Amino acid sequence: MSAAESHILPVYSPPQQNFERGEGCWIWDDKGERYLDCIAGIAVNALGHAPPVLVKALTEQAGKLWHTSNMFKVKGQEELAAKYTRDSFADVVFFTNSGTEAIEGAMKTARKYHTANGNPERIDIIGFQGSFHGRSYGAINASGNPSYLEGFGPRLPGFIQAPFGDLEELKKLVGPTTAAVILEPVQGEGGVREVAHDYLRALRKLADDTGFLIIFDEVQSGAGRTGKMWAHQWSGVTPDIMAVAKGVGGGFPMGAFMATKEAAKGMVVGVHGTTFGGNPLAMAVGNACYDELSKPALLDHVNLMANHLGQALEGLKDRHPDLVVDVRGKGLLRGIKLTINPKDIQGKLRDRKVLVGVAGDNVLRLAPPLVIDEAQIREAVDAIDAVLSAYATQANG
Ligand SMILES: *Cc1c(COP(=O)(O)O)cnc(C)c1O
Repeated sequence: MSAAESHILPVYSPPQQNFERGEGCWIWDDKGERYLDCIAGIAVNALGHAPPVLVKALTEQAGKLWHTSNMFKVKGQEELAAKYTRDSFADVVFFTNSGTEAIEGAMKTARKYHTANGNPERIDIIGFQGSFHGRSYGAINASGNPSYLEGFGPRLPGFIQAPFGDLEELKKLVGPTTAAVILEPVQGEGGVREVAHDYLRALRKLADDTGFLIIFDEVQSGAGRTGKMWAHQWSGVTPDIMAVAKGVGGGFPMGAFMATKEAAKGMVVGVHGTTFGGNPLAMAVGNACYDELSKPALLDHVNLMANHLGQALEGLKDRHPDLVVDVRGKGLLRGIKLTINPKDIQGKLRDRKVLVGVAGDNVLRLAPPLVIDEAQIREAVDAIDAVLSAYATQANG
């Protein structure tokens, strides 16, 4: 069927492939062609495609109970929340269906905290230029990206954007109505940029001195992606509230926001809710996925592969100084900033059966399953190398 006949709302422009089956880092289309997946459904399939542990968890649960809603206790929620809080700054967890829903809940929690403290005027959420927090009204207003806001009516009050990485500019924006600062420890869509650790430390001090809360959006950078369970753990700086999704379900749609007991003090019976969030299917997969991600051997593997990938990308930069401006990111979330349109390179890589993503700031994005091995990294980087070489030859010839 041609695109013109499609009955899908045309907000996406996918390539022609129809993917049917996956295993680990490989994915096959309906013609039987095999592709090396280095984007993992945008940092989602952390354990690869159809990992047997998650297939087992999902199918076992599917035969028992799918959904009861949050009118009733869901045992898997208690179990998974106990694990998330055992291993993090957080004391309480709310399960969602998506990243943007987690972001909404995180921001509502921050505003409610100030109301509970008798400061309802503290409503401003400060986000950063180049950030991405999802597509709900709250999320597009938090990130402030004009192209996502355009045509959807007036901007919501109580949202401000700060320039990336500039503490002095941030200080100018903080005032008596500041509720929270929201940021990704490693920006994903915005160009795969890591926030400096001393910036995070200074931000924590500013928050503590002036009373606003810190929300980390770890929807993309979390779930082991950078080599620690949560990317902020590299810096030692903890937030008050954190939103997660993408990799935490290993491909099953689920997310969560979590908070300290203090930051969540306004979130009492009746003030927030969701029908599907944390349902038994999601919790069966989420628990099994977290158990795998929290095995030290898995994170050791991520760090080892991240070293290989980092070195290989530096090599690419050395070989193609005219095309590669910069390599950035952390762990298995990496960006290659190009002088040319990354979409062209993405398309040429797909022709060579390697799937990658793009990000803002002219960046080609790699976010493979965390179980990728050295040979697969080599194959992906060789393919990028070949495409860049062909591009250079074509441009010069
Ligand atoms: C993907 C993403 C979101 C939104 O998640 P959805 O599940 O698409 O709603 C929010 N924040 C970050 C950092 C993301 O990468």
